[in-house]
Amino acid sequence: MKKLSGKTAIITGSARGIGKGIAELFSENEANIVIVDIIQDEINKTVASLKESNPNVIGIKCDITKEQEIENCVKNVIKQFTTIDILVNNAGITNDKLLMRMKLEDWQSVIQVNLTGTFLFTQKVSKIMIRQRKGKILNISSVIGLIGNAGQANYAASKGGIIAFTKSVAKELAARNINVNAIAPGFIKTEMTDKLPETIQEYYLKNIPLKRFGNIKDVANLALFLCSEDSDYITGQTIIIDGGML
Ligand code: NAP
Repeated sequence: MKKLSGKTAIITGSARGIGKGIAELFSENEANIVIVDIIQDEINKTVASLKESNPNVIGIKCDITKEQEIENCVKNVIKQFTTIDILVNNAGITNDKLLMRMKLEDWQSVIQVNLTGTFLFTQKVSKIMIRQRKGKILNISSVIGLIGNAGQANYAASKGGIIAFTKSVAKELAARNINVNAIAPGFIKTEMTDKLPETIQEYYLKNIPLKRFGNIKDVANLALFLCSEDSDYITGQTIIIDGGML
């Protein structure tokens, strides 16, 4: 019996990057997996690779900024697996600009995906979890949401917002036996961070006491803990995973 045997987990933005790593580890732990993302080809590739070892994997194309698409997605998951035990709000984007150059649409695009998307998905899935009187919701924030960063006012606001949202929703849903927590990763090696200029990458590395960037497995291990029964008495928390940087 593995840690997530028989549980159904939706992971947003899981066709690649950290979300995919979480989906892989949850799948190894015998969860039913729902890959949610926006590019059908990418979803198909990830679903096919996970299905090699777990038949209970489905992919659903869903833009987390679209309420109706989320509602359809949730209905689809219930039809397929009957319950939703775990939601990982992982999908996120960056659109970095200095404040003086940031257009309203640069601000809104990031808030819309990272913060509003997390709100919408949490709201729709909570309805199911409240009826079940059980569930785990995990939101992927960032250390940038705690310390801020020049050129990332939109991203920092969205990720800081996720932390405040997590605390509030944890208080609302605790009586229904639903745990709501967040993870604030530091610098994790993914396509998102590979896009950063080398000078910035070197700057971060110098400031990491453990002297390495995090890898996807580091974050996935923490996600597994926070979505398993091992963390049943933890709610409303944001766990920093940054090699000691903060
Ligand atoms: P990533 O590789 O860019 O993956 C994000 C995934 O989310 C992509 O597959 C992306 O689709 C998808 N996505 C974007 N907008 C979406 C939408 N509207 N609806 C559904 N899916 C959408 O990013 P990552 O590095 O794995 O990061 C995952 C999460 O961790 C993000 O929330 C990020 O902010 C957070 N984080 C990352 C780091 C890090 O160092 N990497 C550090 C702190 C926090 P596309 O393929 O179309 O882009």
